[in-house]
Formats: sequence, C-alpha cells, structure tokens
Amino acid sequence: MKQNVVNKTSIQINRIIAILIFFLILSLILIITISNISGTHSIFINNAGRIRGGIQKTAVTALTGHGISENISAIDELIGDLDTFIGDYSALFSNMESSKLDRLKNEWAALQILLEQKNTDHQAVFKQSNLIWALSDEIVSDIENKSHSYIKFLYIASIVIITVIITLILLIIIIRVVIQNRIETQAAHDKLTGLYNRNYLTDLIKKKITEIKNTDNSLAFLMCDIDHFKMVNDKFGHETGDEVLKHIAKILSGSVRSADVLFRSGGEEFLIITDFDKIQNLLFFGERLRKNIENSSCNGLRITISIGISIYRSHTEIKEIINEADTALYKAKSSGRNRVVLFSN
Ligand code: GH3
Ligand code: MG
Ligand code: MG
Repeated sequence: MKQNVVNKTSIQINRIIAILIFFLILSLILIITISNISGTHSIFINNAGRIRGGIQKTAVTALTGHGISENISAIDELIGDLDTFIGDYSALFSNMESSKLDRLKNEWAALQILLEQKNTDHQAVFKQSNLIWALSDEIVSDIENKSHSYIKFLYIASIVIITVIITLILLIIIIRVVIQNRIETQAAHDKLTGLYNRNYLTDLIKKKITEIKNTDNSLAFLMCDIDHFKMVNDKFGHETGDEVLKHIAKILSGSVRSADVLFRSGGEEFLIITDFDKIQNLLFFGERLRKNIENSSCNGLRITISIGISIYRSHTEIKEIINEADTALYKAKSSGRNRVVLFSN
C-alpha cells in the first residue's frame, strides 16, 4: 500500500521532469533559431550598407561616362530584398523604416532619371547621391540598433527561461529524493515505537543472511512477547499499554548491538535478528534482554517478556525460521512465561 504511494509519487514527479525537459529542449531550439535570425539580420544590415555604397559608386561611374545598368539592377535587387526583410519583421521595424525605404526608393528613382539625362547636372547628381547616402545611412543604423536590441532581448529571455527550467528540474529532483526517503522511512517504521515494522522484514532478513555468509558466525531470531499484556490494557487502559510498548522498545533498543535488527513484528511482539558465535553466548544474550526488561519499570509497572529463539540454517525458508521462533516462544509461555527457550525438534 505504502509502496504504491512511493511509486505514484515517483511517476508524477517523473512526468513533471519529462515536461520540464521538453521545455528545455524547446528553449534550446529557440536559441538555435535566434542564432539563425541573428545571421539573417547581419546579412541585411550588410546589404543596407551595400546599397549605401553602391548608389554613390553608381553616381560616380555614370559621371565618368561608364555603363551603369548592372549597378542599377544589383541595387534594385538589394532594395527589393531589404523591402522583404523589413516586411518579414514588420513588428520589429515599425512603419518608420518602411517609409524611409519608400523615400529611398523614390530618391533612387529620381537619381536614375538625373543620370539618364544627356547633359547630366553633376551638382544635382552629387546632391541627390548625398541625400540617398544620408537616407540609407539612417536605415542601416536603425536596422542595426533594432536588430541588436531584439536579438539581445531574445538571448536574455532564453537564458532566463533555461536557467529557471534547470533550477526547477534540480529542485524537483531534490524534492523527489526527500519525499521518497520520507515515505520509505515512514513505510518501514512503526509509528508508536519508531522501530522497523513488518514491511521490510523479508528484505532485512535477506540482507542479514547475505552478510552472515561472509563470517564464521550464525544468525538467530529472537521472538519476544510481552507477558499478560492484555491484562495491562484491561487494568490500566490502552494509553498505559502504549506507554509500556514504547518502554519495552526503548529497553530492547538499548540492549541490542548496533549490528542487530529490531522489529515490532506484531501488536506486543518484537523480533530481534542477531548473529552469534556460540549457543551459550546466544542464550546469554536472550537472558540479558529478558532481565533488562524484568529489572526495569514503566510508571511503576513491572513487566516481563518471554523469548523464543530459532537459529538460521542454510536453505531454511524465512517463514520456517519465524515459525520455529514462534514454537519456542509458545513453549516459553506454556512453561511459565518470563523465560528464554531455544527451539528444538
Ligand atoms: P501472553 O502472556 O500469553 O502473551 O498474553 P497477552 O495478554 O500478552 O497476549 P494476548 O495475545 O492475549 O494479548 C495481546 C494484547 O496486545 C491484545 C491487544 O489488545 C494488545 N495490543 C496489541 N497491539 C497493541 C497496541 O498497539 N497498543 C496497546 N495498548 N495494546 C495492543
Ligand atoms: Mg502475542
Ligand atoms: Mg503477550
């Protein structure tokens, strides 16, 4: 059940991360597009510069008596391209540029008429070409300024977007790890005593069995059960019963070694998995646990526990080892309680 919560949370978080990665890819595509736009803009800024120079060159060429038809068609083509470019980015280059371009076209037509006249008025040609030069210069710097600030804005916007997305992805990954750890910790632990619960019993037992294989020691299972606990509840109430459970959990925690694993395996049952070298030492360990409880008191109440012990042999099923510990516990109960019994056939 709790494992389901972990899986559902992970799936949802994975979906959010996938969406964010999708946006990250879109932003990268945006950056590539901006690079292309920036390239196109540079070409047209350059073309506007070529119009500016080309018109002056044409005037000079015409005045020195050379043919200018090629120059004229080249400039017409450049003006046509610039017209299309400004049209394509009409939102960026407001009417100002297009009206300037219209003026440039008109002045350029007027210059061509002047150049076609038989007795060309040099003064008028210079004046006209200077006028066109100033006009095209204005267009070049207008396009340059607007393009630069437009591209700069696009770059800053995409860098901000990418930074935000990457930060969100990192944050979500951190949250995912924290939530997952918290859910897993909650799922593995008993709320009342804070000890491991049954959820991870099989996993932890398997882990212990693997660990023990590399040592000369054996593994033992100690099933501890509070004696006459029902009576505690009946006599002093459920809350006192809970206090007793917490008290027993505390004493047992303080009595086991750090390598041992302690579970609250059922209502008033605790399971300890420990490794030992000699049976004598194992029984001594069980006795120590029993005595530590017997010699303690919880709000003036004297409590005792019975312990059933089974020993792991290779190829034994986990269920079988637990059953053997239960059988030994049953013997401890039936032979008078407050004692430690080792399973035997
Ligand atoms: P025995 O010596 O044979 O073990 O007798 P017992 O009374 O301890 O055993 P029994 O199985 O008859 O009763 C166990 C009681 O434990 C019954 C149940 O109400 C109580 N119990 C189980 N879980 C909790 C809990 O979380 N809090 C409290 N207060 N009582 C609990
Ligand atoms: Mg019991
Ligand atoms: Mg009991």
